[in-house]
Amino acid sequence: MTKIDILVPRAMRDVVIDGLATKFNLHKTYEAADPKAAIEAVAERIKGIAVLGAKVDADFLQQFPSLEIVSNFGVGYDNINAVECGKRGVMVTNTPDVLTEEVADTAIGLLIMTVRELSAAEKWVRDGNWTGKGSYRLTKGTLRGRTLGILGLGRIGKAIALRAEALGLAVHYHGRSRQAGVEYPYHDTLEGMAEACDTLMLVAPGGEDTHHLVNAEILKALGPDGVLINVGRGTVVDEAALAQALADNTIHAAGLDVFENEPQVPEALLKQSNLVVLPHVGSASVHTRDAMGQLVADNLSQWFEKGRAITPVAETPQKA
Ligand code: NDP
Repeated sequence: MTKIDILVPRAMRDVVIDGLATKFNLHKTYEAADPKAAIEAVAERIKGIAVLGAKVDADFLQQFPSLEIVSNFGVGYDNINAVECGKRGVMVTNTPDVLTEEVADTAIGLLIMTVRELSAAEKWVRDGNWTGKGSYRLTKGTLRGRTLGILGLGRIGKAIALRAEALGLAVHYHGRSRQAGVEYPYHDTLEGMAEACDTLMLVAPGGEDTHHLVNAEILKALGPDGVLINVGRGTVVDEAALAQALADNTIHAAGLDVFENEPQVPEALLKQSNLVVLPHVGSASVHTRDAMGQLVADNLSQWFEKGRAITPVAETPQKA
């Protein structure tokens, strides 16, 4: 029996490649001297694509007349025009749940690093200042008495909320609607939540609907003790407004794992000493990335073996 053709346009973890190679005819076009030509040569036959960060829009999709499924590595899929996929009858899957706890751990780690200046304190030791100049300064910031407002109380947001409660923080949330069965105070506007809280945790997806939701007004509402943490998507924050707010102490500090144009981090941000930066490592452990890779492979396998995806996104629900 002829094997189904699957496209892998960018290098992915072994667990994805090995999981697919035995069952499918894999086209790892990133290995070709001319990847674009390599895609064109097989495009008509491709029925499934394993995607890592690549932009999947109408232009890209029109190359693949036989396409049935796009399996995305990552729970966020703002790189994929899922509505367009739906119109073309193409299933889109992502990798929810398997990364939730890891990202929540990272978010809390970044929060503590930011509030207690832990990366600067470590640098103090490494630079020889502890012996040369004495103790690192007492931090103005503390978690004690903080109120955490979560933008996006979804899977990861809820896992962050549990950890925050254990740390003694009060938790509030904002999303497009109040959630049944959730007792944390709900704010129907982000600005209202920023006013009521001194710590803002962003865990909302990227895309047009959330673009620059956090702007100069929201930062002003957060106030001079305010701490902003972003583990959602960089596009949610107006980075120029954030750089200004950090520079003039409109807010106290920020910690960012995600940026608008990764891997570029604007110089205006980098020069702020009250900013902690991470290179998008929210889910980046071998354990969790392998679990995500397994789900990418399993979604493709189940689709072609049983006609059902495991984790379809909301825009392309599984037909009954
Ligand atoms: P979920 O879909 O479970 O949660 C997303 C939450 O965002 C929901 O509570 C939703 O609430 C809210 N939301 C969606 N759109 C809007 C909007 N326009 N305005 C306000 N709130 C909104 O996703 P996960 O928790 O699994 O993942 C969340 C995001 O985290 C991902 O989309 C991804 O961008 C990011 N992420 C980052 C990682 C990293 O490495 N830093 C790793 C993994 C994920 P409601 O529907 O009520 O509005």
